Amino acid sequence: MRVVVVGSGIAGAATAHQLSRRGAEVVVIDAGLTGAATAAGAGIVSPWTARADRNLAFAMAAGEYYRTLVEELAEDGRDDSSFEVVGGLVVRSDTAELREVRERLQTRAEASPAAGVVELLDPGEAREFFPPLAAELAAVHVSGAGRVDGRRLRAALLGAARNRGAQVCEGRVELDVDGGRVRGVHLAGERIGADAVVVAAGAWSAALLEPLGVSLGVVPQRGQITHLDLPGTGTRTWPVVLPPSGHYLLAFPESRVVVGATRETGSGFDHRVTASGQREVLEHALTVAPGLAEATLVETRVGFRPATADGLPLLGALAEHPQVSVVSGFGPAGLTIGPYAAQLVARQILGEQVGDELAPYPPERAG
Ligand SMILES: Cc1cc2nc3c(=O)[nH]c(=O)nc-3n(C[C@H](O)[C@H](O)[C@H](O)COP(=O)(O)OP(=O)(O)OC[C@H]3O[C@@H](n4cnc5c(N)ncnc54)[C@H](O)[C@@H]3O)c2cc1C
Repeated sequence: MRVVVVGSGIAGAATAHQLSRRGAEVVVIDAGLTGAATAAGAGIVSPWTARADRNLAFAMAAGEYYRTLVEELAEDGRDDSSFEVVGGLVVRSDTAELREVRERLQTRAEASPAAGVVELLDPGEAREFFPPLAAELAAVHVSGAGRVDGRRLRAALLGAARNRGAQVCEGRVELDVDGGRVRGVHLAGERIGADAVVVAAGAWSAALLEPLGVSLGVVPQRGQITHLDLPGTGTRTWPVVLPPSGHYLLAFPESRVVVGATRETGSGFDHRVTASGQREVLEHALTVAPGLAEATLVETRVGFRPATADGLPLLGALAEHPQVSVVSGFGPAGLTIGPYAAQLVARQILGEQVGDELAPYPPERAG
């Protein structure tokens, strides 16, 4: 079976990898558009600490699956996924609230072993894990929380797909529709035929399906996220920090701390770092971790989350055009759930039974 995958962010790269592993002939094509979410995403992989229970079972399955993904990549010649389990700190100044958090996360950890061990830390203990933290903040520590560098994971997935025979191309494509049926795509005037087409074009996915008269419920939500450097500080093992505001901090080797992020619904594809966005991100970060005040501001990245109205992804084949499958709508959680969702859709395309796991996410629903 020949499959064209449109888009090679986490969604497209993971789908291409899974299809290639299962023997499909894959062509993955990306336009290299400015503001791809995967290149900006923070990289927190901690579904267990989500505030709401919505979609939790699927997200926790995705958290478990990361361990398998790393093994699959290694089997395909890539041991550079960048995924690392570093633990997470849910921080609060109110200890009664923290006890509730611990109970909730404990229940989740019982259902999903990859969450690891859940324990309460007093402020001094929390600062041992993340030294710049505000003195009044205690924490619940979740040992299984992870982090990933979206750019490196994408490169590893595409490399692994290539090692399995996939072709990786550049360019902006449109669907090739003939007699009401999708036959492949057009790339720079050339027709690339396919038995199936995967739309994994992130926040741009809706535009691709317009010629079919399908109105996909996905829009760009801008996120601004800032990278700081703490010269001479070993940050590799620092955990993810999750305050109540929905903002967050996480660290990467060697001395990098990433703080974010804005969630700007209605932004359109306006790819700018704004004064208020920068202020919002830094204000929250320095309130939670005043010890970052002297860090060097390295860069602010901007990405467009592929957002849906109901906050759930868009997954699987179109009803009227079963040769077209969607892997999109991941919003703020694509680095976590994208790989798991991608392998389910890849299996569905190849005719495998995937149970009812994709049932809650029909791509044409009014979100
Ligand atoms: C600031 C920020 C922080 C985030 N933090 C986290 C986090 O901590 N944890 C988490 O799990 N998730 C996080 N996310 C969400 C996550 O990054 C996204 O959900 C995910 O990256 C979406 O991946 P995607 O492949 O669907 O889209 P994208 O990465 O945007 O990729 C879409 C690709 O499609 C290509 N494309 C579009 N149209 C065409 C076309 N016509 N032809 C060819 N190519 C095309 C584009 O060039 C692009 O490369 C964050 C996002 C942002 C912005």
